[in-house]
Amino acid sequence: MIKENMAQVTERIEKACQKVNRDPQEVTLIAVSKTKPIEMLQEAYEAGARDFGENKVQELMDKIPALPADIRWHMIGHLQRNKVKYIIDKVYLIHSVDSLKLAEEISKEALKHHVTANILVEVNVAGEESKFGTSLKEAEDLVLEIAKLPGICVKGLMTIAPFVEDGEENRKYFRILKQLSVDILQKNNDNSIGNILSMGMTGDYEVAVEEGATYVRVGTGIFGERNYKKES
Ligand SMILES: *Cc1c(COP(=O)(O)O)cnc(C)c1O
Repeated sequence: MIKENMAQVTERIEKACQKVNRDPQEVTLIAVSKTKPIEMLQEAYEAGARDFGENKVQELMDKIPALPADIRWHMIGHLQRNKVKYIIDKVYLIHSVDSLKLAEEISKEALKHHVTANILVEVNVAGEESKFGTSLKEAEDLVLEIAKLPGICVKGLMTIAPFVEDGEENRKYFRILKQLSVDILQKNNDNSIGNILSMGMTGDYEVAVEEGATYVRVGTGIFGERNYKKES
């Protein structure tokens, strides 16, 4: 089932790209495997997945050594400062940086481990109370501040759009994030900031691709519903 699901999601991403004349190579599918057992990740790997997204440090620590070494691990969940040290040299990209304090901790640990930490700044575009992420108003200053820190590279922006029945409703938020990225890049004259846009989940990834997503994070659409009671 996972193989078929991945093929279907990939096809839909390609169709969305065609619609707006984008090269599908610009979009990377992240298989969001949180709560799912190793065997299911292995199955996705065999079906071609190389980018996996997890939202908990402990789960990452358990899964990374159990799976092939060429996987790019994405930390997509809220990250506590005291846990940065566990994943700093193990993950490919941290999508969820939303404060200068967290960025400073990442910078410190990156220097200590002699790595460059690649991060995205998470923006709460819709202004939902329940969500992490910097406000739209503060996002630009935060990105420019973080970009000055050593050992850390701001590759772009990430957002988690509201949970909606119809993904179309989130188009406006994806558009805002894209525009924010364009505005920031215009002010960044030394090209130290990247143009990655991590946006779109199972319910709205096609819309996100149409609006410029370069990473989509799909869990349910690949692995099926999550059962937190049973699986966690
Ligand atoms: C769980 C999660 C996803 C995947 O959600 P689905 O709706 O299952 O595709 C994407 N991004 C983040 C940050 C998540 O926590």
